[in-house]
Amino acid sequence: MAQSSIFHRDLNSDLSVVVAGDGNFLIDATGKRYLDACGGAAVSCLGHDHPKVREAIKAQVDTLAFAHTGSFTNQPAEDLAAHLVARAPQGTGAGRVMYLGSGSEAMEAALKLARQYFVENGEPERSQIIARKPSYHGNTLGALATGGHAGRRAPFAPLLIEVNHIDAPYPYRLQHDGEGEVDFAMRMANLLEEEILRLGAATVMAFVAEPVVGASLGTQPAPAGYFKRIREICDQYGVLFIADEVMSGMGRTGTSFALEQEDIAADLTTMAKGLGAGYQPIAAVLVAQSVVDVIKAGSGRLWNGHTYMSHAIATAGALAVQNVIEDENLLDNVVKRGAQLEAALRAAFADHPHVGDIRGRGLFWTVELVTDLGTKAPFDPAEAIATKIGAAAKARGVMTYPSQGCIDGVHGDHVLLAPSYTSTEAEIDLIVQTLSAAVA
Ligand code: PLP
Repeated sequence: MAQSSIFHRDLNSDLSVVVAGDGNFLIDATGKRYLDACGGAAVSCLGHDHPKVREAIKAQVDTLAFAHTGSFTNQPAEDLAAHLVARAPQGTGAGRVMYLGSGSEAMEAALKLARQYFVENGEPERSQIIARKPSYHGNTLGALATGGHAGRRAPFAPLLIEVNHIDAPYPYRLQHDGEGEVDFAMRMANLLEEEILRLGAATVMAFVAEPVVGASLGTQPAPAGYFKRIREICDQYGVLFIADEVMSGMGRTGTSFALEQEDIAADLTTMAKGLGAGYQPIAAVLVAQSVVDVIKAGSGRLWNGHTYMSHAIATAGALAVQNVIEDENLLDNVVKRGAQLEAALRAAFADHPHVGDIRGRGLFWTVELVTDLGTKAPFDPAEAIATKIGAAAKARGVMTYPSQGCIDGVHGDHVLLAPSYTSTEAEIDLIVQTLSAAVA
């Protein structure tokens, strides 16, 4: 290929040109096939050429692409919203859905909705945000400020709002020897209460967390009971809970929303990747009825908006994705193949001198690498271990999602796996065999 005119992430290397998708495989311009074990960043949950999704998008292109949401709603957007609301975690109430184009936009929208809620509720002094570290909530300025990665924020610091960060539960490094899971969960959740009291409860607007941490830490679920305690604390101090399900949502962990498994609902829930599964760029915020009620009784208007909200082709594509997940019983496959993936990873790396932790849920798993199992010391970032493993797996025809370690000095390199919900037993075996060879 002639020199690329695209401003890639890495301007000093050439990317392979992808030309087609075939089930859970991608095919590049040389004809090489890659089994997609990560769906980009946990996006392509139905592989790359699902016929029902393709047909739904084509049919919508032939009917209506776009009409401005200031004047119209449209049927696919309404049908998808009804679908999502009907599957929302119990406690959401009737709820409503707001559509956006990316996970970062959804996070911005959730933060602005939280602020609108308190202004309309007569509590304008509430503006402080508490989030967790590590975490990733996106790359736009509000989402970047919210993310718990000081290194990513640093170059943009003069442009960012101030956000407060507490530790996310990370058992491998933060659970004390002999500390039980429940005690650990309570200790970590109570950090939120301490932070609210430190800031002054009347000033705090929202707590933001990923129910299963994604890219920043690598598929880290919370210890049992953590989110129940978080909900109690938010309720006690009148703080809104924003659940970032951009990565963990839409079936990735075996239920539509990861938070369902914690038996609580958030006030605002963002979703993106598994919503459109990469067939269309789309994201959403699920707004609990209690928030809708305050805004309805106040100005009755949304103080936010983007040109392409409720885009008919994007929502038609996403609706088809969600229908396929349900009609083909794919959440069962996520649970079954997820159990296979976990067992195979644990077997493959049981005695590996550099695999310190294996963690995840559903079809969302991570292997963390360290220099020494005893000290858990991370590799020197200059060694780019995760990047090299990702490249070695790609050379062998399997795509993984590697992340450089030492995020703010906290953890090791890790490799994230998020295979398609349609994965077969043989594909999961191939993923683990290839990753094993790449790590070796
Ligand atoms: N929130 C989480 C948990 C994410 O993993 C991501 C992206 O990886 C985002 C937000 C931002 O989404 P986008 O890249 O679509 O803006």
